[in-house]
Amino acid sequence: MRKQFAIIGMGRFGSAVAKTLSQLGFEVLAIDQDEETVQEVSAYVTHAVQADSTDEEAMRALGIRNFDVVVVAIGEDIQASILTTLILKEMGIATTIVKAVNDLHGKVLKKIGADKIVYPERDMGQRVAHHMISSNIIDYIELSADYSIVEMKVSKEMIGKSLRELDVRAKYGCNVIALKHNDQMIIPPSAEAPIKQEDILVIVGKNSSLQNFEVTFAE
Ligand code: ATP
Repeated sequence: MRKQFAIIGMGRFGSAVAKTLSQLGFEVLAIDQDEETVQEVSAYVTHAVQADSTDEEAMRALGIRNFDVVVVAIGEDIQASILTTLILKEMGIATTIVKAVNDLHGKVLKKIGADKIVYPERDMGQRVAHHMISSNIIDYIELSADYSIVEMKVSKEMIGKSLRELDVRAKYGCNVIALKHNDQMIIPPSAEAPIKQEDILVIVGKNSSLQNFEVTFAE
């Protein structure tokens, strides 16, 4: 059976998550305490209900326990976000994904058992900054506090050289784990094949090493 998702809080982040999952064909239960917001999202999700997620009884009545993944996308009201997460974990929800607005909020969520904590504003800020360093940077994904994956377009001085010649691992301390060529993923990438202008490199490494690499090949 396909996974069932519930999203609590239909702000910009929560509604984007709900909309995307619906478009991908998943069943989504959208919950918000505001009736008007519920009306708006009901157009694009399977079920939209008005409820206060800090009300344990209301959550039980909605059968929230039957959902595989519950996303808590409440930002401004940190107390409601924490209480909701606590209630969900006590009910035994396997996976809770919770939006945090700052580090302290994130720390509390971690302590009470949130399974994944996301920081949409911070993450998007990082991506935009990396894109500003080099227009070659397509995407930037943080794996942990120290390691990330960067997807980047080939810069002029790489064209025609092989990965062996570029010697990324020895010179920059990061690894090219994949090469995208015409939408095709080449894993592992060839060490000998000359890099083409339209190729895209997927590189993993320490943040400091990746930054060094990005700045060196910035265009
Ligand atoms: P975003 O940045 O994603 O737009 P935000 O971080 O500003 O959102 P809020 O606007 O505080 O977050 O909350 C998002 C939504 O969550 C709102 O539509 C609000 O009505 C809803 N919400 C807040 N508290 C509760 C609650 N206790 N139960 C259900 N929904 C709630």
